[in-house]
Amino acid sequence: MARYTGPACRLCRRLGEKLMLKGERCTTQKCALERRKMPPGQQRLKRRRKKMSDRGLQLMEKQKARRSYGVLERQFRRHFAEAKRSPGITGENLLRILEMRLDNVVYRLGFADSRRQARQIVCHRHITLNGRRTDIPSCAVKSGDVIAWREGSTGTEYYKMVVERIQDKIVPSWLSLDRENLRGQVLTPPSRSDVDIRLDEKSIVEYYSR
Ligand code: SF4
Repeated sequence: MARYTGPACRLCRRLGEKLMLKGERCTTQKCALERRKMPPGQQRLKRRRKKMSDRGLQLMEKQKARRSYGVLERQFRRHFAEAKRSPGITGENLLRILEMRLDNVVYRLGFADSRRQARQIVCHRHITLNGRRTDIPSCAVKSGDVIAWREGSTGTEYYKMVVERIQDKIVPSWLSLDRENLRGQVLTPPSRSDVDIRLDEKSIVEYYSR
C-alpha cells in the first residue's frame, strides 16, 4: 500500500490552497499556509509562480483532488478509468468513487480528524466493514454497508475521545451515524453537492482526455 510520506503542509503550499490534511491544526494560526504563502523550494524558484496555462490549471485541479483524498497517481488513474466506464457524467462519477473509499467514509463519519488519519486508523485494523476487519483504505463501500470499530479497539483512549467529540457531529445526508455505538451506515451513494472539497471535476476530465 504505497502512500505519500512527505510533509503534508508542503502539498498545500505547492498548490497554494488549504487541503485540510492535518485536521484541527488546519483551522488555526499554526497552519503552514497562514504563515508561509510562498510555494516550497529554493528562493529563486519561488519567484517563478507565473500565470498558468489551461493545461497547468487542469493539472493543479487533478493534483488537488488526488492529494485531498490521499491517492497516488496510479490508483487515481484507475478510479478515473472506472468513472469513465460507469454510466453518467464522468467527473461526478469520479468524485463519487473518491467519496466512497473506506478511508473517506471513516473521516466523514467523524472517526478521524482528517482523511490521512482515517487512512491510518483503517491500516491499523481498528475498523470493521460489515462486521469484518479490513485494512484496505481504498476499499469501495456501497449502500447498506456498516462501518464500525473493532471490538478490541473500543477500550483505547483515542476511541473514548472520538465518542466525546462525535456527539455533536453532523454527518452528510448519505451516511447515518449511531453515536452511542460509534457505528455508521452508507444510506445512498453521495451526490455532487455532498462533496466537501472545492473541486472542478471538469478540469480533471479534460486533463485525462488529452
Ligand atoms: Fe495544509 Fe493543514 Fe498544513 Fe495548513 S495545516 S498547510 S491546511 S495540511
